[in-house]
Amino acid sequence: MVFYLLLSGCGKHEEKIHQVDQELATYLDRFVQEAKIRGVTIPTDNIIMEFTDRVLIDGIDYCGQSISGSTPHVQIVQSDICWKTTTDMNKEILVFHELGHALLGRVHDNSTLSNGLQKTIMISTLLVGLYTKFTPQLRKYYLDELFNPNTLEPSWAKIKTNSTQLLKDSITVTTDWLYHNLFSDLNHTGSVSGIYYSPGHSLSITSPSATGSASEDSYWYKVIPVPSVAEGSELRFNVKIRTDNIVGKAFIGINAVSGNEYSLNTFSQYDIKGTQNFTEYSILVLYCPQNLNSIYIYMALMGNTSGTVYFDDVELLHNF
Ligand SMILES: [Zn+2]
Repeated sequence: MVFYLLLSGCGKHEEKIHQVDQELATYLDRFVQEAKIRGVTIPTDNIIMEFTDRVLIDGIDYCGQSISGSTPHVQIVQSDICWKTTTDMNKEILVFHELGHALLGRVHDNSTLSNGLQKTIMISTLLVGLYTKFTPQLRKYYLDELFNPNTLEPSWAKIKTNSTQLLKDSITVTTDWLYHNLFSDLNHTGSVSGIYYSPGHSLSITSPSATGSASEDSYWYKVIPVPSVAEGSELRFNVKIRTDNIVGKAFIGINAVSGNEYSLNTFSQYDIKGTQNFTEYSILVLYCPQNLNSIYIYMALMGNTSGTVYFDDVELLHNF
């Protein structure tokens, strides 16, 4: 150390290190490029970026971290869930978040936009799916904000004041909903039931015993063509659900298709179980993907479940 100080002649001189894993370099290059587009120059002659097996902070597992020091140091966890099996966009979000700490000096910020979406990629919690390849305007905003925290709230983030009904179905005996049970070990039965919230039917699924697993389910579903739902608008799926002796779980979900690909897959996190009269449950999608041409809504019973669930008064709203 003494030798170093004598040699440099200046105690403030720091040695520069550039040591970047080849796979992570792709994302560092992209970060530099996105900064450049926005008029920000990012020097990369002093940075360490590497993979690690685990990041454990205060007993909680994370997918990455930025370690402060004279050389900015980013570690990314190379597990299946954090890296190997995730999408290019999720890898970008993770690396850009850590580079936000390491190279931009950004700290965590959990504030939200007017519509409830996260304000920034610098959130402290779940980053996965913050944006996808189907939400280019959302990605552009989050990158604008990353390099300039004073970026104005975009127009799609406003509170939605217009609403149209894409579907309103109180369920009739001649329903066009379809029931799917793709698993031979599930003894589920789907029926149009005479038990209802609004007259005179509902859709039910009965399981006399829990014969399947939590990764299996059977479900009622419907495909709704939606030619005019713009990127950034909202969807709300409402349904009234009754449960009779459900041991396990019922749930609802929305999938959407853009072009020929699934661009959205979201399902309820409610604990729908036990015995309960008809109660309304909802899924709110705050940001629709681009080029959306159809929406699948489904109402399901998990494989490791017994009991009967009834679904009635299904509504799908487009808020914009
Ligand atoms: Zn962070």
